[in-house]
Amino acid sequence: MFEIATRGHDPATDDAFGRRDFLKVCTLAAAAVGLPASAAEKMAQKASSGAKPALIWLHFQECTGCSESLLRTSAPDVGELILSLVSLDYHETLMAAAGHQAEKTLHDAIARSKGKYICIIEGAIPTKASGAFCKVGGRTAVDIVNETAASAGAIIAIGSCASFGGIPAADPNPTGAQGAPQVLAGKTVVTLPGCPANPYNLLGTALQYATFGTLPALDELGRPKFAYGRVIHEDCPRRAHFDAGRFAQRFGDEGHRQGYCLYKLGCKGPATHANCSLNHFVEVPGAWPIGIGHPCFGCTEQKLAFRAPLHSTVDAKDFPPLTGPGTYPPITAERGGISPLATGLAGLAVGAAAAGGYVASRKISPDGEKKEE
Ligand code: SF4
Repeated sequence: MFEIATRGHDPATDDAFGRRDFLKVCTLAAAAVGLPASAAEKMAQKASSGAKPALIWLHFQECTGCSESLLRTSAPDVGELILSLVSLDYHETLMAAAGHQAEKTLHDAIARSKGKYICIIEGAIPTKASGAFCKVGGRTAVDIVNETAASAGAIIAIGSCASFGGIPAADPNPTGAQGAPQVLAGKTVVTLPGCPANPYNLLGTALQYATFGTLPALDELGRPKFAYGRVIHEDCPRRAHFDAGRFAQRFGDEGHRQGYCLYKLGCKGPATHANCSLNHFVEVPGAWPIGIGHPCFGCTEQKLAFRAPLHSTVDAKDFPPLTGPGTYPPITAERGGISPLATGLAGLAVGAAAAGGYVASRKISPDGEKKEE
C-alpha cells in the first residue's frame, strides 16, 4: 500500500487544515446525496477511525482529465477530502511504483481487500484485436477490468469514456472501445459521466459508500440521481432568455455578448442530465461551458457527446419533462428588458414540470426556430 501525501495533513483530523471545513463539505455532500446532516459527523468519524475502504484506480483509453480535475480542486480541496476517506492503494498516474513493482501493488491490493474495495475505472476499454490496443503489464485492458471488478465491493466508471466509451468509441471506433458497463454487463457499475467528471459527484458517491457501505440511487444509465436527476436547462442562468425567446444566433453577435440563450448555437442543455450549472468546476464561479459562452455539448449523455454534431440543436420533442423549481432567478428587466409576461412564463417554467414543458415546446418548434406568440 502507498499513501498519497496530501500536503502533509489529513483534513479529517487536522485542526490546522480545518476540521470544520471537512465537516462542512461532508454536510453539503450528505445533503446532496439525500443523507441527513447527522451523517456528516459519522463520515468524519469514519474517516478518522482508520477504517477506510481501499480504492483501486485503473486507467485505459483516456486523457487523464478526470484524475486531473479531481487533483485541481481547491477551497476546500475535494481531491484531498476524497483521499482522506479512502485508502488509495493503486493509481497508475499518481503512484511512484513502476513495472513489476506496480503489478505486484495491484495484485496485493486486490488480495488484501477482496470484496470490499472500490474499483474506479477511468477511460474506455478497447475490445477489438484481442485487446491488443491497450495492454498493461502484458495483460489486456479487458482482462484487467474483469479481474479487478470481480472482487470489488463497488465499481465506479468515472468520466464519459469509462461510462459510455466517449471519444475513443466515436465513429469509426477502430479499437472497439466500450464503456465499463458494457464490458461488465450484469454487474452494477456506477457511472459518473462528464468530460471531465465533476469531482463533487465522485465525492458524494465515495462519501456514501465509505460511510454506509451503500451506493446512491441510480438512473437507468447507472448515474447517481443526486447529481444527474435534472437537466442542465432546469438550472441554467440563461434560462430566462430561453423562455423569453432570446437567442444568440452566432458566436460573437450581440445576443452572444449579452449572455442570451445558446440553444441555437447547439446547446444540448435541455436534454443533458448533469449538475454542472450548480457545481462549477474547480470551485471557480462560472467555470463551466455555458458559463464561458459555449453551448453544453451533452458530455453526460450516452447519445449526445461525440455522437451528435457539436453545434446541432436538440429536438424540442426530446426535451425531458422538467422537475421542480429552478435555482437561478429570472434575468432582471434592467439587464435584459424582459417583459412581465415573459418573466411570469419563466417563473411558471421553473416552478412546475408541466408548465416548463409547455413553455419549451411553445417557444421552440421541432426545427429549433422560435415561434411567434
Ligand atoms: Fe441554458 Fe442551453 Fe437551456 Fe439556453 S438551451 S437555457 S443555454 S441550457
